This record gives sequence, C-alpha cells and structure tokens, in this order.
Amino acid sequence: MQEPNDKEIGSFGNDLLVDAVRMKLRWYQGTRLRQSRPCPECKEENYRKHDFEDRIFAILITEDGLEEITVEYRRFWCKTCQRTFSADLSRLFYDECMYGKPIVNLCLQLASRMSPTEVERDLQQVGIQVDKDTVRRYVELFGENFAEQHGITVAEESLSQNVLAALFDVGTVEELKDEYAEELAEEGIDELAGCADETYPVKKGAKKELYEENMERKQEGEEPRKHPDSFMVGCGYLPQLDCYASVQCRQTAFASVLANALGLPLSGVAYCVTDDEDCYNGTFEGRVKCLFYRLRSRARGDERVEQLAEEGKHEELAEYLEKAYADLYEQEIETLKAEYPSFWDEEREEFTGPVTTNAIEGGNWRLKRKLRVPYRRADTARGRVLLGALNDSLAVYRNGRPAASFAHRHGSFSFQQIMGGGSGQPPDQNIHPPMPPVRSAVS
Ligand SMILES: [Zn+2]
Repeated sequence: MQEPNDKEIGSFGNDLLVDAVRMKLRWYQGTRLRQSRPCPECKEENYRKHDFEDRIFAILITEDGLEEITVEYRRFWCKTCQRTFSADLSRLFYDECMYGKPIVNLCLQLASRMSPTEVERDLQQVGIQVDKDTVRRYVELFGENFAEQHGITVAEESLSQNVLAALFDVGTVEELKDEYAEELAEEGIDELAGCADETYPVKKGAKKELYEENMERKQEGEEPRKHPDSFMVGCGYLPQLDCYASVQCRQTAFASVLANALGLPLSGVAYCVTDDEDCYNGTFEGRVKCLFYRLRSRARGDERVEQLAEEGKHEELAEYLEKAYADLYEQEIETLKAEYPSFWDEEREEFTGPVTTNAIEGGNWRLKRKLRVPYRRADTARGRVLLGALNDSLAVYRNGRPAASFAHRHGSFSFQQIMGGGSGQPPDQNIHPPMPPVRSAVS
C-alpha cells in the first residue's frame, strides 16, 4: 500500500483550487471548541474545566509534505465519575468521523459519482489527504445513518430506504402532494405516477468465482451456473420529477415483503408501472404492468411468434411484434386515459404518464454507472447506491443540457441532516472563524 507521505499533488493539480482549499482549511487551525455538555458517562453536569487537547481537522498535501490542520477542544473533569470528557464537538465534527465536517461532506459528495479509490485520487489533486478506506467508512456510515433515520423497517430490519424523506422531509407521495401542492401546480403536475424496478449489480470477484466454479462443474459433468452473485438494487421512481422515492440494496432475492417496503413511499401515486415480477402483487395500488414486459410474456405464448422464429423469418417477426406492441399500446392508452384523465394532454393528444419501466431503467443504468466498480460488501454498495440516487435526483444537468431538478429547486437535503444524527441541529453556517477582510479591487 502506498504511504500517505509519498503523496504529491501531481502535474494535473490546479493552483487556484489548491490555494483556495489551503486558505479555507488553514482558517480552522487552532479553533477552540469549548462548549460544555453533560458527562456522556453519567449524564450529570457536575464537572470542572480541565485542559485543552488537539484534534486533527484535515490533512493538507504540500510541497513540504503533509500538514496537519488541528483544532483544540476543551476537556472537562467529571466530579461524579472521576473521568475526563471532551467538549461538544458537533459544531465541527460528525460522530465517528475523524476529519472535520467539510472534509466528510466533500468525500460523500464525490462518492455519489465515483469509487472510494477515485475519491482519494481526486482529493489528492486539490491537496487534501484522505485514504480510500476512510472514504469507504464514511460511505458506510452514511448508509447506516440514512437507514436509521429514513429506513422502512420490518421486524427491526431496515428493508428499504425512503429517499423522499431525505429530499423533501415527507414520508410518502401523498404527503409530497400536500406539502408541495403549489410547486407541483407550477410545473403543471396534478397527479404523480410511479415506477418500480430492480437491477442486479454484480458483486466484486463474483465473475471470477463463477468462472472457476463452472470449470469445476464441467469436470464433474454438471450444468454450469448461469449468473454471478449479485446485489439486488430495487428502486421506486417518480419520472415526472426525475426523482427517486425509495431505494433498497440487499444480498437476498427480491420478495413480496421487500416489494412492499419499496412501495411504501410511493403511496399516493395515481398508478405505478412495474415489471411482471410477482412480488409486486397486492403491493402497489393501481399497479400497471410495464407494456414491454406484457408484450414479452404475451409473445412467449404466441404460436405465430414461435412459428416465425422457427422458420427464421426475423424481419416478419419484428414487424409482427411491432404491430402487436402498437395495438397493445393503443389499448393501454385508452384504458389509462379513461382511468387517469389528468395525464392526458388534450393539445398534443398524448398520454404523458409512464407506460413502461423505461423511465426508471434509465435511472437504474445511471445508478449502476455511478457505482463504477463492483463491491463485496452490501454496506458499502448500499451507501453508494443511496448517494447515487440522491445525486441523480438533485441533478442540475440532464440529457445533455442544464436542467435543475425539482428536488434541487425545492428539496431540503443536506449531508448534515443525515450525518448530524438527526438531532435537530441547525445546519452549520458559521463553523469557521471569520474570513480575513477582502481588499477592495483597485480600479
Ligand atoms: Zn460522569
């Protein structure tokens, strides 16, 4: 493993960013945290001031090696249990995180679109030392805190995470429609439709393991195993808002109880498109099976399809399926139009709601791309899936052009809200010492 001491900013580093980072972080140097609190051991307030200790806030990579930015915190002496304890550090630090809040937030923000190793490299470019294992721990901790605060829990197990709760501070689509009625009306949205889907990112090392196992099976004359081990990532999505409602990342197979947990935040949608997975049965009110999946299952039992495929008449088959899809689409639109008139655009004579899970499959594809590398641990994968879903929902750029998402414009997400332990602390605004006065420009 590379020693952190060997680190250099490298030729791709940028002076402007490096200087800005240094200036900002050096302001924290020597900050004193002296806010008292009850003794964490006995909860009593029977203490006296003790001494000051140093704590690392950030580590800079400089031409002269690593530079530690430290802050000081007061220690108190508990007269009841005869121990020392530290002042309240929550102004600058999250629980269980070594570095200061700005460093943790930056790690998490970057980890929403790149792997921990890439985050380490990226931070090196701006002169900040954080190793990839630390980034990974922050990602896992983010996932744990998220699940604790916004988990949908069955028998004390957090099965699914409510992304709407983190983005808008609401539990369900029903509540979103109430709380954001004005904002939705401005977008011309009367009703919301949902999508739910699953995807299966492969586990780290699973392809190699599958290959080796299948070599052995071959020797034994057994059938090969088809799929490598994977995680199950389930998503609930609101295509009109380009926004995730719920996410789950698990090692177990998809099941009805999981579909239920995934669907809870979606309650309040007019209807919800899913694939033909049986687990969704009885879960989603107003469930509409994805047209594409329905066509596929219809095609499976279709004699004409079988005949054309057998005869190798591929062009004819494509034409036949296209026509079948068009007919099915027409029928479906007629039904949906009658049932959900608010999605019918009179001017364009078009049904504007989702009819296939395509909308979310784009999202799933983006999530997988944001995961970047396979993971062995579901905990790391869960943290990264959640960060990816938030990043995607808060996007300001989509389909090749600037487009500020609904959650970006109206949502209330902050890393503080998740990492601050949900203790109701206000987001930190003045956590650094005052900036030096800016010299006015000479004209
Ligand atoms: Zn005590």
